[in-house]
Amino acid sequence: MQEDIPTVSLPSGVNVPALGLGTWMMGEESRSEPDEIASIRKAIDVGMTLIDTAEMYADGKSEEVVGKAIAGRRDQVFLVSKVYPWNADSKGTIDACDRSLERLGTDFIDLYLLHWRGPHALRETVAAFETLKQQGKIGEWGVSNFDTSDMEELFAVQGGGNCAVNQVLYNLSRRGPEYDLLPWCQRNRVPLMAYSPIEQGRILRNAELIRIAKAYQATPAQIALAFLLERDGVIAIPKSSHPQRVEENRGAAGLDISDEDWDALDAAFPPPAKKMPLEML
Ligand code: NDP
Repeated sequence: MQEDIPTVSLPSGVNVPALGLGTWMMGEESRSEPDEIASIRKAIDVGMTLIDTAEMYADGKSEEVVGKAIAGRRDQVFLVSKVYPWNADSKGTIDACDRSLERLGTDFIDLYLLHWRGPHALRETVAAFETLKQQGKIGEWGVSNFDTSDMEELFAVQGGGNCAVNQVLYNLSRRGPEYDLLPWCQRNRVPLMAYSPIEQGRILRNAELIRIAKAYQATPAQIALAFLLERDGVIAIPKSSHPQRVEENRGAAGLDISDEDWDALDAAFPPPAKKMPLEML
């Protein structure tokens, strides 16, 4: 029996699994589509029911792949998509959302994010998100790639405090958010969604990570994900187009890492000693 995936509460009270699936690079090549669809369906089967996509990914084709994968299973999925910053004005946000809904084959996106800060005033984007909520096209909205000062600015805008999530680059080798962004989000009850949670595979060859993984009969990816699951209010969205890797990543939930090994991970991947500007991929 596998351990349950922990859940994270969004400000609205909706609970989402702390482990979901990313889909960047899906939809790029049609010959990969069967594997991508199988991976998304595997994620749903094993409880990683939060699926993250964006209008940017493969120019909308990622959303189309997600749409095919969740057809007939929409009610089992917590769907996240994102609007391009240059589309995020009053009308552009609504139009972009309509296009995403069409590609996703649904009439509802659970969580709609501003992909990163762009040319439009935050109050305009927030107002458009609130309109989408009233229209019943989205459940909640959030942001991505927002550092602490951006979050403060957002919260000063009318309705800005309704932000449900901030999705940022956060993993063992990118611990900058721990200095002040993660504590800020925890204090203000805005879950942090960690993207590139295994650093796109680059950290998996780290010798210390490999050593610790072996000690738990686990894999380096599982330990890297367990590190994120250990933190309050953090959601990790590893991407894989291989169903067996999705299953492997699912195994991160329930790993019971000792204090000594957390210390060893801190030594190998030191937490920040000072403010570091938020990194982006
Ligand atoms: P990840 O850290 O999730 O790594 C994905 C890569 O790791 C893929 O190449 C995948 O290969 C490989 N991989 C997955 N699982 C394993 C495993 N168990 N063992 C070995 N390799 C593995 O990087 P992403 O950048 O994709 O980030 C995750 C998601 O976050 C994205 O897909 C996207 O949804 C979101 N994101 C958001 C951004 C933003 O600006 N808001 C920016 C970047 C990402 P394979 O598929 O072949 O298995």
